[in-house]
Amino acid sequence: MNTLAALTDPGEAPSPLGQLLNEENTTRYLQSVGLAHGVVADAVRSADRPSTGARPEEVAALVDAVDLDRPVDLRTSLAELERIYLKDAVWFHHPGYAMHLNCPVALPALAAEAVIAGVNTSMDTWDQSGGATMIERRLIRWTAGLIGWESGADGVFTSGGTQSNLQAMLLARGRALAAQARLDPDAAALPMPERLLGLRIYTSADSHFSIANAADLLGLGRAAVVAIPTGEDRRLDPAALEARLRADRRRGLRPMAVVATAGTTDFGAIDPLPRMARAAREHGAWFHVDAAYGGGLLASSRLAPLLEGIEGADSVTLDFHKTWFQPVACSAIVVRRAADLDLIRHHSDYLNPASVSDAESPNQVHKSLQTTRRFDALKLWTTLRVLGREGIGELVEGVVDLAREAERVLTERGDMALRAPVQLSTLVFQYRPEGIDADEAGRLVAETRRRVLARGEANVASTTVDGVPHLKLTLLNPAMTQGGVSRILDLVADAGRAALSARRADVRDAGAHNPADHLITTEA
Ligand SMILES: *Cc1c(COP(=O)(O)O)cnc(C)c1O
Repeated sequence: MNTLAALTDPGEAPSPLGQLLNEENTTRYLQSVGLAHGVVADAVRSADRPSTGARPEEVAALVDAVDLDRPVDLRTSLAELERIYLKDAVWFHHPGYAMHLNCPVALPALAAEAVIAGVNTSMDTWDQSGGATMIERRLIRWTAGLIGWESGADGVFTSGGTQSNLQAMLLARGRALAAQARLDPDAAALPMPERLLGLRIYTSADSHFSIANAADLLGLGRAAVVAIPTGEDRRLDPAALEARLRADRRRGLRPMAVVATAGTTDFGAIDPLPRMARAAREHGAWFHVDAAYGGGLLASSRLAPLLEGIEGADSVTLDFHKTWFQPVACSAIVVRRAADLDLIRHHSDYLNPASVSDAESPNQVHKSLQTTRRFDALKLWTTLRVLGREGIGELVEGVVDLAREAERVLTERGDMALRAPVQLSTLVFQYRPEGIDADEAGRLVAETRRRVLARGEANVASTTVDGVPHLKLTLLNPAMTQGGVSRILDLVADAGRAALSARRADVRDAGAHNPADHLITTEA
């Protein structure tokens, strides 16, 4: 059934004023969002593949053909969207989707999205937010409780792990500069680039690129990020970290932050948190845990112990739009000591004057890198009210268990090689039938992936491990079955076989027509 055809049409408004949400237009409001929801429901029902594999130039032509100077009614605009966007959209709920860290979204969160957008609260100040601020603060306290901080913590919702990591590094820099000023009051008067000399961030070679980007943005430069090697299990090698910290201190460098990843993007590896916390403390560095991916384990009583040591952090990044099944964007940074947020506190006369107390006006803006900010916390709140923590935890357990079973299935096949044991819900592997080494299998990866994506039945990712290309499955769909994973592996094997024979034919061809051979023949 096509819902769009069946739904009541809001029709044309008498004037642009008729298109604003206010007490006059609630009927048109209901009809408008009803139409939109109908279109999405239709698209989800009819999505028989995770994506169509449409090419950029095809999609660009569809979008460019729209005449933006000729308005249409909403129904026409939504019908147009079906054609230029939804038809070729990428569907994260589809059992063939196993590419990046995207999740199917929880229905209570989508209901909350309707409230968030309709009310349009801005989280920066109490006078724009009211109860929304209390809901956000309560959820931050709740999250802090899961981390193991019973009181005294604080934090704020952000646009994503990238922003949370940037803010964590900004706080770490603030603390390093404050310490420097205490030791040497003259240093505080130096130009900022000089004050930043010698500051270092220690993180695993597998940590997220947003840490290096943050170093750049904060004026430290990428060279200030020290990549500590990982072991066979892809977790940071703590002995290497400790040795490097000691050596750098002897050279007069200043450790600003130690950054652990709790769930690396490729391998799901959880760095040794307790030992890294100790090393950071010993050398006076801020300890940040990037749990953008692994944070969802906190929702499960069974899996939370995997994050043991996270309570030793000064700050934690959580991405609710990854392992908590929330729509983009929903993320947070939580700090152990609320006072640390004062490192970036700012006041402006028009918004949050310093003379007004938190009791009078509980503002959030001075804790955030954003000013105007969506009430994204409501999505998590509503999901939590309906599913409960254990309900969310069950979904997380579902993908972790699925990945462990997929590891067994993949290992038992004779034609695939897993690069490292599964830790969360990703599998990094190669199509590698007998007689092929890892380097040769690596040369098949791009073509294999291209062939899989072109068929449109499955979306898989690729990555490079120690210079060698690999394929990657990210399992973040609790509704996915083992049969679905096996089906994706079969598609990969088909594509891999085709890539291998194409490559062998190419090599033979190249051998026959190699101009260099010709040259040698001539010389001879
Ligand atoms: C995804 C991810 C990030 C970035 O988060 P965004 O929400 O995409 O900005 C940071 N760190 C890790 C480990 C991630 O997996």
